Amino acid sequence: MTEIAIHWFRQDLRLGDNPALTKAVEAGALLPIFILDDEAAGDHSVGGARRWWLHKSLEDLNRQLHGHLRLYRGKAEEIVPRLAALYGAKCVSWTRCYEPWRIKRDKAIAEQLKSMGCENLRLNGSLLWEPWTISKADKTPYRVFTPFFRKGCLQAPPPPEPIAAPEGIDYCAAKADDGAVALDTLGLMPSIPWHKEMDSLWDVSEAGALDVLETFLSGGLKGYKEGRNFPAKRHVSRLSPYLANGQISPNQIWHAASDVGDDAPSNDLDHFRSELAWREFSYHLLFHNPDLPHQPLQEKYKAFDWVDAPGWLTAWQQGQTGIPIVDAGMRELWRTGYMHNRVRMIVGSFLVKNLRLDWRLGEAWFWDCLLDADLANNSASWQWISGCGADAAPYFRVFNPVLQGEKFDKAGDYTRHYVPELADLPDKFLFKPWDAPLLVLKEAGVSLGKTYPMPIVDLKQSREAALLAFQALGETSPEEVLSSQR
Ligand code: FAD
Repeated sequence: MTEIAIHWFRQDLRLGDNPALTKAVEAGALLPIFILDDEAAGDHSVGGARRWWLHKSLEDLNRQLHGHLRLYRGKAEEIVPRLAALYGAKCVSWTRCYEPWRIKRDKAIAEQLKSMGCENLRLNGSLLWEPWTISKADKTPYRVFTPFFRKGCLQAPPPPEPIAAPEGIDYCAAKADDGAVALDTLGLMPSIPWHKEMDSLWDVSEAGALDVLETFLSGGLKGYKEGRNFPAKRHVSRLSPYLANGQISPNQIWHAASDVGDDAPSNDLDHFRSELAWREFSYHLLFHNPDLPHQPLQEKYKAFDWVDAPGWLTAWQQGQTGIPIVDAGMRELWRTGYMHNRVRMIVGSFLVKNLRLDWRLGEAWFWDCLLDADLANNSASWQWISGCGADAAPYFRVFNPVLQGEKFDKAGDYTRHYVPELADLPDKFLFKPWDAPLLVLKEAGVSLGKTYPMPIVDLKQSREAALLAFQALGETSPEEVLSSQR
């Protein structure tokens, strides 16, 4: 009798470079499954934008598996052992995930499978290095990025070469009454059509991921180190949604980039690899600090005096703060499901420092709107921007959105694209329309407070208020920090 092997797809929605899938294919006739398990995820069930992406990814995966993908909804802890028993599976395989709730749940499922005598294959397919394999000489986890990358990752065995997609898969005959449901009944597609622009922007498929990688390697990698700061330039890869959903592995990206890039230190390839390693660092932090999405890593920030201003939060979410580059970023996020990293830092700093709204509010909005929403990267980045994380931006680093705009969107292409009501303003006033003379505003068709909002806060005053609030936590003053570094 043919042995049956179940591969449980989770955040590895691809066939290529998927070691756990390949092992299952080698072990027996394949039953490929996916489970939408919203309950176990608690407040981090799949967000709105990612649900749209997930629907399309599952369509693509099912196409590649010739219609054999089985979908279920409910508690994975019940479904996986039930299917293993029903099919008499020899083994169940999956690619490891590192979210604390998944680690706990997967452990419980592994124990159940073991007690049933079913083999369980859990392999890495989402990270370049497993979080527990990188540690300091004293075996404690890293808290600072540069030594984590240079001494930890780069001194460790290199990421394995990617493996090819399994060929000639033998599928197991599915049982009609095994509880599988149709894709449409998972309810992943939005009920209102806010995703129309995303439909035209993203090719949500494994082949699409490889195309995006190729486009980046042939056009964006050269000049990445500098170019990645400019939101209107095409120097970033836009691979993050594919990585978050597992349509491409970091190994595939690492090795493909290494094949075409110049290997000298501090060049574009080195920099691109270090950004991939920031993702690894986020997972390292999450693995060793499971509270990362909810609690500041630095204890004293638990007492921070956040402001309660729901109106400001709404203005920020809707791109109506009256600060042009902040509004451009927030509108890019809503329309495309993506936001350029430079602008994520600007809008994040504005939220937590100028508005003094709790970073967890920003984290939650990003979680819902980002196609690349990723528990490790999102929480670690919000903690970084707030100054309360590991190796974080110092609390007194408050991005000035006017200067950031003038430096990184000098010609205004990005801001004009997403804030078209300011498109006719001269460059000089694009990032600070409140300084423009009335005649200039009139000629550009701008009426502040009517066609475009007045700033919801004064940038200078709000910055000073933030610095005072941070100092109240016992933070050293900026002058003291600087003089101690001399
Ligand atoms: P590229 O520059 O092409 O980089 C390639 C890959 O490297 C990215 O896909 C990503 O996996 C990784 N990477 C690049 N920059 C970073 C970084 N600063 N930190 C961690 N990994 C990085 N990234 C997410 O993937 N999911 C999130 O939910 C997320 N939330 C963020 C929230 C805030 C407030 C900030 C400031 C950053 C956040 N990031 C997040 C990190 C970063 O902005 C994105 O990874 C990056 O913009 C993705 O675009 P890209 O693929 O074009 O990047």
